[in-house]
Amino acid sequence: MDQTTSQTPATEQTEMHPSRWGDPERVTPLPDAARGLIEMVFGLQDRPALAEVTVPASGLDSALVAELAGLLGSDHVLLDDATRRLRTRGKSTPDLLRQRSGDLDDAPDAVVRPGNHEEVAAVLTWAVQHHVAVVPFGGGTSVTGGLVARRDGFAGLISLDLIRMKRLLEVDHTSMTATLEPGLRGPEAEALLAAEGLTLGHYPQSFEYATIGGFAATRSSGQSSAGYGRFDALVVGLRVATPRGEVSLGSSPANAAGPDLRQLFLGSEGAFGVITAVTVRVRRLPAQKIYEGWHWASFVEGAAAMRTLAQAGMLPTVIRLSDESETAINLARPSEIGAESSGGCMMITGYEGEPEAVAAKRAAVTSVLAGLGGKPLGEEPGQAWAHGRFDAPYLRDSLLDVGVLAETLETAAFWSNIDDLYAGVKGALEASLGDGAIVLCHISHVYETGCSLYFTVAQKAAEDALGQWLPAKAAASDAITKVGATITHHHAVGTDHKPWLTAEIGELGASILRAVKADLDPTGILNPGVLIP
Ligand SMILES: Cc1cc2nc3c(=O)[nH]c(=O)nc-3n(C[C@H](O)[C@H](O)[C@H](O)COP(=O)(O)OP(=O)(O)OC[C@H]3O[C@@H](n4cnc5c(N)ncnc54)[C@H](O)[C@@H]3O)c2cc1C
Repeated sequence: MDQTTSQTPATEQTEMHPSRWGDPERVTPLPDAARGLIEMVFGLQDRPALAEVTVPASGLDSALVAELAGLLGSDHVLLDDATRRLRTRGKSTPDLLRQRSGDLDDAPDAVVRPGNHEEVAAVLTWAVQHHVAVVPFGGGTSVTGGLVARRDGFAGLISLDLIRMKRLLEVDHTSMTATLEPGLRGPEAEALLAAEGLTLGHYPQSFEYATIGGFAATRSSGQSSAGYGRFDALVVGLRVATPRGEVSLGSSPANAAGPDLRQLFLGSEGAFGVITAVTVRVRRLPAQKIYEGWHWASFVEGAAAMRTLAQAGMLPTVIRLSDESETAINLARPSEIGAESSGGCMMITGYEGEPEAVAAKRAAVTSVLAGLGGKPLGEEPGQAWAHGRFDAPYLRDSLLDVGVLAETLETAAFWSNIDDLYAGVKGALEASLGDGAIVLCHISHVYETGCSLYFTVAQKAAEDALGQWLPAKAAASDAITKVGATITHHHAVGTDHKPWLTAEIGELGASILRAVKADLDPTGILNPGVLIP
């Protein structure tokens, strides 16, 4: 076996802005065309975030802080306001609205930064002993309240920040697997793997900040998952620190050794344990990447073409389809929002791999899509999408700044249920948000049996924008449940989706989750209130 051990990222990545998405250096005002469109549709309001906010004082007893410092070193136990603010909640629109209005009630009492599995385990033992709640923190990109744990009844609440655990621990070039620490962000993991000629191929829109541990803990799905697979499909092994001890899983490519316990921890959102290492299947770096655009007369026709490809086993690496409204405002290309659109629906397809394989797949897909009525638009729209694929979240902040409420939500269903799901969610959002609400949708992930729908919503922000959004989100969630679709295809459950989880998995399903939680975390210190119904 060809092994590489203990590689760490070459450069330090920036921290995100506490009340915005992403790199503070990349904050930009709305492009002119988008600003014009917003002004015309909603009018512009100046809604800046509060400049000065107060972080509640840490309530952790000084003797407990001293014990933590003894375990990790005092440099890795942080109580300053700025650090605690950066570890308060995630990056959903409600999270940002709360930060922007100065609501920091969920700030942790301390941020602790263990450097390895043993130190994570030591913090958990300490937390059990003193009944302190622990919130595992990866990239902080949760959009479902996964970092908003309950603190009542606990002696304090700490953010267990995995930022120091960033090593590529092992590469097996023969088996094509790599073992990564949980705190590696997407670009850091890809850079370490690229140095080995490898890639993971996991590109969620939050790629630039989300982490390997977070991907596993939320069962994330990326923009190239049609080709590379969802993150849970990439995981072959896990190491987890729980309050009851260590669990280490994944000793073979496949097995029949009872139920697959890896699946218990994939998607467990920090409620069962802290994932301290993830072994993933890797691929060789693609020699070629080609993205292109297709035009469809309607969403229905484009969706039917996607289904045909999926059911023929012919999916490209990337495939997504915007509905008529999303196409009309060019959401797939944020820099061109407001520019004229040709109507119909835009599909993006992408191919990654060796040139011969790319050429063969592209020719086969092209023949199917053209045969079904798609019009090829060439590489330009595809390249533009690829270039701007991580920019849309910055746009949300710019919209909030000018008084537009903007948020996204996602779900998935079988093909036979997609029309009802689309109509149900769109109708619920429009009814709740009232006249003038814009509801856009695209198919973000495609399977043989169904697909996921990803909605983007915009409406003029009310004075109480949070109070405006929460009922709309609840109405959409009710509509999802009513048609029997999933409450989440890839954003996970957190606290926001928890009220709808039991309807999806049943009372007995919920009771299984509670039983596992009670066994692994009997005093309930891990992410209290998150995930478990
Ligand atoms: C703008 C934007 C775009 C997004 N796009 C996508 C997308 O395309 N696809 C997608 O799947 N998701 C997307 N998300 C959601 C989010 O990025 C994912 O859920 C991601 O996997 C979270 O990773 P993270 O490292 O940021 O985890 P965090 O947000 O830090 O944590 C998420 C949850 O997992 C727990 N957790 C984190 N690390 C560990 C660990 N090591 N062990 C145990 N528990 C842990 C946390 O306690 C929390 O409950 C998006 C979010 C934003 C803000």
